[in-house]
Amino acid sequence: METKTCSDASDNKKNDVILIDSHAHLELEPLVEQTQAVVARAVAAGLIGIITVGIDLQDAKVALGIAEQFDMVFAAAGFHPHNAKDVADNSLLQMEKLCENPKVVGYGEIGLDFFRNRSPRDLQLAAFSNQMELAQKIRKPIIVHLRDAYQEGLAMLEKHGPFPFGGVIHCFSGDESDARRALDLGFYISIPGTVTYKKNDKLRAIAATIPDDRILLETDCPFLSPEPLRGKDNEPSYIIHTARKVAEIRGVDLQSLGLLATQNAIRLFNLPL
Ligand SMILES: [Zn+2]
Ligand SMILES: [Zn+2]
Repeated sequence: METKTCSDASDNKKNDVILIDSHAHLELEPLVEQTQAVVARAVAAGLIGIITVGIDLQDAKVALGIAEQFDMVFAAAGFHPHNAKDVADNSLLQMEKLCENPKVVGYGEIGLDFFRNRSPRDLQLAAFSNQMELAQKIRKPIIVHLRDAYQEGLAMLEKHGPFPFGGVIHCFSGDESDARRALDLGFYISIPGTVTYKKNDKLRAIAATIPDDRILLETDCPFLSPEPLRGKDNEPSYIIHTARKVAEIRGVDLQSLGLLATQNAIRLFNLPL
């Protein structure tokens, strides 16, 4: 098993693994300093696409700038729940304008974060609601961030749905019933590197049962590096470790799992790949 996790990028190429990182933050430090090298390592690891997710207006501009430099990089834009306090009529209008660029393939990440509470809860609820509506208006799939807020967040999604342009619960950390509710809404479920963490049997159980046509993979880099790289700054190429673990859990080979998750990301975000 040890040799498997140590196989390098050129091995993956030989094995024809294809992967998409459906949620990255190339516009954040330290990745933003070295986007050329980061994208080159991603290509070497078998990635054919990266979605970099801007979390406020300024960050979204940087994310879009990076997406415009690389054919394989796409952007998403929205106010993260941490930045709910910055959401106003004027800033939403500017975000809407930025989303007119064809390189913006999704709206978000939007949602609720009752773990860190960096914006007051009432502002988070209002920003989530307003941005769900904006995403429908501009016909984009939504990228949803929920942390310690699955009950409230799913109830809001159920109230605001249906979502004809789809959506994903990114960096999934809910339980089986939360996963069921997300799937019933027609959403995709995105599995991050935390699925490789020793204690995370709960997420492994969920990753085993998500239907083939609803699973996505992500890094959420520079955060949450998978094992055996936990503790280091994460980057898109490390998604291979997450993919390998999810393939093992689901009892399929890495190539099939990669292909499946890649097709799902292309379908949800309408990627021209
Ligand atoms: Zn998030
Ligand atoms: Zn994120």
